[in-house]
Amino acid sequence: MSATIAFTGAALDRADHIRGDAERLAGLMDWRARLLKLDGVAPVLDREGALEWGTLADAAEDAELVFLGLRHGKACFAAVPDQGAAGPAYANPAIWAAMQALSPDELAIYGAARSLVDWHARHRFCARCGQPTALAKGGWQRTCGGCQAEHFPRVDPVTIMLVEHDDMLLLGRQPRFPPRRFSALAGFVEPGESIEEAVRREVFEEAGVVVQEVGYVASQPWPFPSQLMIGCHAMAEDTALNVDKTELEEARWFSRAEVAHAMRGGDDGAFIAPPPHAVAHHLLKWWLER
Ligand SMILES: [Zn+2]
Repeated sequence: MSATIAFTGAALDRADHIRGDAERLAGLMDWRARLLKLDGVAPVLDREGALEWGTLADAAEDAELVFLGLRHGKACFAAVPDQGAAGPAYANPAIWAAMQALSPDELAIYGAARSLVDWHARHRFCARCGQPTALAKGGWQRTCGGCQAEHFPRVDPVTIMLVEHDDMLLLGRQPRFPPRRFSALAGFVEPGESIEEAVRREVFEEAGVVVQEVGYVASQPWPFPSQLMIGCHAMAEDTALNVDKTELEEARWFSRAEVAHAMRGGDDGAFIAPPPHAVAHHLLKWWLER
């Protein structure tokens, strides 16, 4: 994978050894520490379109602070907002504008911070006993004050796959996509499944297509709220489709020429390709270059 996949490539040392060392962490929380400015969980940008940073004095006195890591020798933090994300991310124009404006490094820092503070805001009570939980290990854990249960920020694996047959690709349309946009099929990995099994199940459920061989291509953290998109490639036995209309509006096979045309940005072709910030875009690029 040549180009940077959005939300990867943060130039930030996560400094795991500091998280559990309360004394060392406290020592970093002085005037030199930097606070990532957030509006709820949305990014705040300066006039150059970069992330805006302040000092810890900018945080509310009782704010819970998460330690993002060390950047250019400085400790970076973000404050947990009162509430988690209000609506779906795709309904928030500020976030999509920031995704165009931010450098890859800053987009990755924002993504990790967003996912983490959003999780904290939504996990203030213990899932085991219902008592309040408190931030621990620099924000990479919450601990229950009642039963001492430890809770960890979640990552939800999602498979996203290019399904190939006879030099054609199977792509699908979700109802919420912009007109004529098609992308790779995707679905959450369920408890008790391997990645390969999830790919086979999802492709069969959504499109009625049987795939056998499944290979890994690339992955992407997707912080809306905490998916890990696992990009795969699978070979289909044949092209017969049986589309589940509750999941997909449409699924179709596209030729190599049609995929190449869409990826060149043509909107007069068979379909419109997924945008560059989506891992599906990189999967299509990988397939064309292979
Ligand atoms: Zn508890």
